[in-house]
Amino acid sequence: MADVDATLTGNRGLALEEAVIFEQDSPGLSGVDLPAPEPGPGNDRLGGLGRSGAIGLPGLSEPQVVRHYLRLSRMNYGIDSGLYPLGSCTMKYNPRLNERLARLPGLGGLHPLQPISTVQGALELMDACAHWLKVLTGMPGITMAPAAGAHGEVVGLMTIRAALEARGDARKRVLVPESAHGTNPASAHACGYAVETIAANVRGRVDVGALKAKLDADVAAIMLTNPNTCGLFENDIIEIADAVHGAGAFFYCDGANFNAIVGRVRPGDLGIDCMHLNLHKTFSTPHGGGGPGSGPVVLSAPLVPYAPLPMVERRGDGFALVEHAGDSSAHPLGRVKGFHGQFGMMVRALAYMMSLGSDGLKQVAEDAVLNANYLLARLKDTLSVPFEGPCMHEVLFDDSFLKDTGVTTLDFAKAMIDEGFHPMTMYFPLVVHGALLMEPTETESKATLDQFIRTVKGLAKRARAGDARHFKEAPRLTPRRRLDETAAARNPVLVWRPPPSRAAE
Ligand SMILES: *Cc1c(COP(=O)(O)O)cnc(C)c1O
Repeated sequence: MADVDATLTGNRGLALEEAVIFEQDSPGLSGVDLPAPEPGPGNDRLGGLGRSGAIGLPGLSEPQVVRHYLRLSRMNYGIDSGLYPLGSCTMKYNPRLNERLARLPGLGGLHPLQPISTVQGALELMDACAHWLKVLTGMPGITMAPAAGAHGEVVGLMTIRAALEARGDARKRVLVPESAHGTNPASAHACGYAVETIAANVRGRVDVGALKAKLDADVAAIMLTNPNTCGLFENDIIEIADAVHGAGAFFYCDGANFNAIVGRVRPGDLGIDCMHLNLHKTFSTPHGGGGPGSGPVVLSAPLVPYAPLPMVERRGDGFALVEHAGDSSAHPLGRVKGFHGQFGMMVRALAYMMSLGSDGLKQVAEDAVLNANYLLARLKDTLSVPFEGPCMHEVLFDDSFLKDTGVTTLDFAKAMIDEGFHPMTMYFPLVVHGALLMEPTETESKATLDQFIRTVKGLAKRARAGDARHFKEAPRLTPRRRLDETAAARNPVLVWRPPPSRAAE
């Protein structure tokens, strides 16, 4: 048995050491008191598969478990701790109102296999959430099933392929701009398409000439992000949509960061056929360690018949769930996710939309863009900007301001941790050298942004003053110091071994 007390941190403010829960094992301790199993024939409900020996789980009392996980949580950094300017991730504050509603017993306590007659309200809620997402995007169809953004991309491409196959058209290629999120080429590849890259122009946008040169009768779709991952609006999007449709292909748009344009621009008006929305980004449902994602996909009219199952349908006096292809007049894909998608995220997203209203949602986009441009305006003379002009919801810097300082983008990010900020996105997008991509989101106040700006300016000054050591040794103030990432790269498979089973002792 490990010396449990040696792992406790007493009254120290922040836990710096925490033994793993197996090392805190006190055999015999338990948070629950279960009656001893009664031997005998009446106790054979597991069909002879019952076991009575120890299974090697650690023994801990309830307070030990609670304190262990609370201490671990205090070593972490989350959106509830402070600014989290991780570009392309939209780490915005998740309103507690959403959480409260998602936990209402009539919503949080539902079972996915309950009879349809008992979940009419839940189906109505899914239908309402779907309705408002269609209104905001100006698209006629939607599937609520996908569990995340990348899953939505795969589902969207499968829908596109189904529509192409229905017209006897087996196209093989998907075009993806250089600056695309890594999930775009990965999803196209996972769907069996050959991925071809389209170059960016000097303004950080898609090179329309290069795009048109690659468009032909073998291209199934283009996957474009707007605003793109340089934080820039693709001004030529209508011309791109026309060219794509002219070649008989579909226009997939990555809508993960729809918060940049929500309430201001309807993707349906831009000629987009298919777009996933990250409820866990734009619509403020928790993500990262905070919860599962949800990636509904909106669809243009030609794709609607191929949307996957299940679908909520309003029928006369109530709501039905179309679960079998035979029950649908269309040609649905089948299932892409267990049950009905991430229902709890739909509750939160609908609560978010309804609490903000159409004026509030417009303001989301305005404030997201304003906050990013505030960072741009205040930091552009300190850091270095690869592309001229204003940005959308995120702002991209390159590492030329660190030239000859010996400090890299990675070092700079590690030093930000010591200053109490989560670092920005690093080395992405790949189109600029040593990228630093910052997305403040609309939920941050001017005071917070000012503090962040002061910190970044202070660090830049320190780097240029020749104090590279400060950066190389960062972070100093965290429970764990910098990982030896080169060692991890040499030895990528970390094998976790359970402690020897107590049964063997
Ligand atoms: C986050 C993101 C994705 C992927 O979404 P997941 O829910 O993490 O799978 C795709 N594209 C862009 C632009 C993103 O920001």
